[in-house]
Amino acid sequence: MLALVKTAPEPGLTLQTVPDPVIGINDVLIRVRKTGICGTDLHIEAWDAWAAKTIVPPLVAGHEFVGEIVEVGSNVVDYHPGDIVSGEGHVTCGRCRHCLAGRRHLCANTVGLGVGRDGAFAEYVALPMTNVWHHWPGIADEVAAIFDPFGNAVHTALAFPVLGEDVLITGAGPIGLMATAVVRHAGARFVVVSEPNPVRRRIADQMGATRTVDPMTESLADVQRELGMVEGFDVALEMSGNPAAIRAAMDNMAHGGSIAILGIPTQDISLDVNEIVFKLLTIRGIYGREMYETWYKMTVMLQSGLDISPAITHRFPFQEHEAAFEAARSGESGKVILDWTT
Ligand code: NAD
Ligand code: ZN
Repeated sequence: MLALVKTAPEPGLTLQTVPDPVIGINDVLIRVRKTGICGTDLHIEAWDAWAAKTIVPPLVAGHEFVGEIVEVGSNVVDYHPGDIVSGEGHVTCGRCRHCLAGRRHLCANTVGLGVGRDGAFAEYVALPMTNVWHHWPGIADEVAAIFDPFGNAVHTALAFPVLGEDVLITGAGPIGLMATAVVRHAGARFVVVSEPNPVRRRIADQMGATRTVDPMTESLADVQRELGMVEGFDVALEMSGNPAAIRAAMDNMAHGGSIAILGIPTQDISLDVNEIVFKLLTIRGIYGREMYETWYKMTVMLQSGLDISPAITHRFPFQEHEAAFEAARSGESGKVILDWTT
């Protein structure tokens, strides 16, 4: 099969022929239709410090996908050839305390698809049956392809109640954009989205932001006054990994407010713990998706009118992976999709 492979510990990904994955008795083999490009894939392509300490070449990259099951292992009875599925990209151990208790998102032994095992930027991908989500009918392929980052958005957006609350989202990358639509759908009052990139601010407007903010030129305190807010934000979703964004969020929270942090900083950040104490803030880290409550919530919200499609801005056949990665890297984009059926 053809696959996008990190062949050596250096920048780049190579489209090359590799052996088809071999499945075990508990696995399914999936013919990939569409994949999304994630920031993680950009790190792997660029071979930055994180990639150099995490990735062992050769590795097929990619973890956001939708495809069709073509073969199942002998133990697999609930999935069948022809099923349209996505993969939960965190392969958990199944044996630790949290896995045994059904809290698989808390597993400390997670192996990442396209990170610690061969991924989905390929014509075929293999996964354990416990990592497969069978899509309900009526979900568009390209939306199904990004259930993984959509799940990051939903997991974060629903970490704290948002009904009737004022929500701040810092960072309108693909995940912040989807979270904007989710908290709007979930009944927030004001959804304020802080993002320096004007292209992404425009998409956030389309996805239901009450007000977008350029953090380089505008202050959140002014925006609060403009909206008639008096207490501060009830909930903040940190989706940038940027130190200034986290501090701005903390400075603009209401007493008793809650901050869900999804963004992964690439540098040390100092936070004012006095502010956390005296404002009685709750700060929660978010990693991955809940298996499979988040997947269920994504599906039913789509069925009840949530539209995340404006977050998808670019589509390329897999042969044009270099142009696709360039579009994703540029920041002048939402989610970039690769089509593996061309
Ligand atoms: P992204 O890099 O495309 O988006 C981040 C956005 O933050 C960019 O648009 C950037 O312009 C914006 N930004 C930069 N400085 C800012 C500031 N001061 N204030 C407000 N916004 C600012 O990333 P993404 O793919 O949307 O992912 C969002 C974050 O979540 C990233 O940090 C990513 O590494 C992380 N992530 C975490 C998980 C997890 O499981 N915890 C999973 C996927 C991604
Ligand atoms: Zn585990």
